[in-house]
Amino acid sequence: MAFSFDDVPRSKGAFLEPDERPRLLIEALQTAGIKQAAFFINPGRITAHDNDAADIAAYARAGHVLANHTAQHSRLSAISASAFLADIDAAETWLKNRPNYRPWFRFPFLDEGQKDKVKRDAVRAGLGKRGLINGYVTVDASDWYMEDQAIAAAASGKLMDWNALRDLFVESYVESANFSDDLARRTLGRAPVQMVLLHETDIAAMFVDDLAAALKADGWTIVTVDEAYRDPIAQMVPDVEFADGTRTQMLAAERAIGNRWYERNDRKVAKKLFAERVLRD
Ligand SMILES: [Zn+2]
Repeated sequence: MAFSFDDVPRSKGAFLEPDERPRLLIEALQTAGIKQAAFFINPGRITAHDNDAADIAAYARAGHVLANHTAQHSRLSAISASAFLADIDAAETWLKNRPNYRPWFRFPFLDEGQKDKVKRDAVRAGLGKRGLINGYVTVDASDWYMEDQAIAAAASGKLMDWNALRDLFVESYVESANFSDDLARRTLGRAPVQMVLLHETDIAAMFVDDLAAALKADGWTIVTVDEAYRDPIAQMVPDVEFADGTRTQMLAAERAIGNRWYERNDRKVAKKLFAERVLRD
């Protein structure tokens, strides 16, 4: 199992000051024994008035690696292939000579063109031409959505139970990891290195060390992202009717394997759990 963080730099969450979050996240990764995580950067969101660029440099100095998530967090289904590739190029221009840069690309929203195979293939060819591989992800439990709900709760003056939030986050990601492991075994007949999708959220920064401890207790071993992207699953290119979702989900869809979706990525389910377990009157 390896760890990745998308949407760097991300806007403010419910709990931490913008500068506090990168420091806490670096510390938590160290505590967790996560020596090398991947940070997928949106350079178009870097602003001069806070310390975004310095924070990203600090991630690299701490041993983590930096990769491409487009400059502006573009959604492939919403724009042309050429505009999308231009946004990838804009991010590459910023990233390329940075320390610990890796030639990996993560699709924003995990949207790889959905039903439009012509567009999908144009972008896949464009990535190949640029020497970029699609930075696969397999384990998702929507930390960004928990963050959205925490922001909404804080804005409306609702109290949240900190321990319950931690437990919900940890439990959801451990469940999702085991779900994806089972799906991969049913799909590929083996257990590839799982790649966790997190975002640069307050929740991830506060609780990723608790998550790592729970995963280890559950029998998981944490490896570097370099090791993960050497797994053959990193090079697999699923041919599906709807190019969207995690690598395991798409490989399973290609092979018509059922039960592909982790239930807590359904917002209705996630919202109900957050209300029942985290919100207090
Ligand atoms: Zn993203």
